[in-house]
Amino acid sequence: MDKTMKAFRWHGKGKLKLEEVRVPKVRDTDVLIEVNAMGICGSEVSFRHDMIPIPEGKIPRVGGHEFAGTVVERGPKVTQLNQGDKVSARYTISCGDCTWCNRGMDNLCTNRGSIEYDALGYEGGFAEYCLLPARNAFRLPDGIPMEQAAIIGCAVTTALHAVKVRGGLKTAESVAVCGLGGIGLHAIQWANVLGAKKIIGVDVNDFKLRTATKFGASETIDARDNDTVKKVHEITGVDGVDIVIDTVGSERTIDQALRSVGPAGRVVVVGLQGGAFIHPLQVNLSPILWYETNLTGSIDHTRDDHQLAIEYVASQKYDLSKSVTHKLPFEKLNEAIDILEEGKQDIIRIVCTR
Ligand SMILES: [Zn+2]
Ligand SMILES: [Zn+2]
Repeated sequence: MDKTMKAFRWHGKGKLKLEEVRVPKVRDTDVLIEVNAMGICGSEVSFRHDMIPIPEGKIPRVGGHEFAGTVVERGPKVTQLNQGDKVSARYTISCGDCTWCNRGMDNLCTNRGSIEYDALGYEGGFAEYCLLPARNAFRLPDGIPMEQAAIIGCAVTTALHAVKVRGGLKTAESVAVCGLGGIGLHAIQWANVLGAKKIIGVDVNDFKLRTATKFGASETIDARDNDTVKKVHEITGVDGVDIVIDTVGSERTIDQALRSVGPAGRVVVVGLQGGAFIHPLQVNLSPILWYETNLTGSIDHTRDDHQLAIEYVASQKYDLSKSVTHKLPFEKLNEAIDILEEGKQDIIRIVCTR
């Protein structure tokens, strides 16, 4: 395909620029995807402010890492996908060949890259077309609306990885989720779908607390006027909660999480407060000795998580119908990020469509 397309590109700090660029050439094991719907992730706000700086030499590049589309061309060695297939995009490029890929931990691939951030030869999905390795395009069964499919590849799968893989949730365990943004609310729903007994949502926003209940939280805690740790122990009894999913990742929330879990509890940090990538956090770690508390992180998700998430959505065990609260046309993508950044509206996920 020798033609041009419209694409929103990062040029460093500041807003994305809508530009006319060349449609990428399809190589042996790639597919070219016509992008139908794209999710606006919280990290777009971080990219805009250079809080996740794109490495030197990798800009300008097309933004966007959460999207779904239709295969329009496939490389000669691609057999698993056909033209016309609807697909959910996986943004982490992994080699399929290193120790971690072979162990099914391809989110930690030695040679990993992200299409929006630094992957070689691939760029993001805020464009009319996006090139991906075929192994990064997951076929969608019929019946999943594209605007819902768009958000599977980040908010939904990252939450699944945190709850199921890193949290190791077992049936009838209790889960508290601190911070009810896109990942937090979907983590609440995963905890529910995967059989948690008590599910506690913690936030400081009325809409998010109300939505957590709709997504399956059995209890909510408004952290503005409650002692969160005390409240969690009131709900869970002397044992404390089994798992805390902390999507905020501040000194305060990690400290609270470590004091909220019971013996051998698990604290999963799935986000770090702005600045924490540069400035070390100070947290009292004594619970990890006294109570054998597990403190761990969770990054992205694996290919297996992605496939599993699609199966749950397709079989309607996982409901995405309430997740997309705002729909804007592709051309208004910067306005969509403005809305997210301003935070004045009741947002779960904003999706741009074309
Ligand atoms: Zn994201
Ligand atoms: Zn690898």
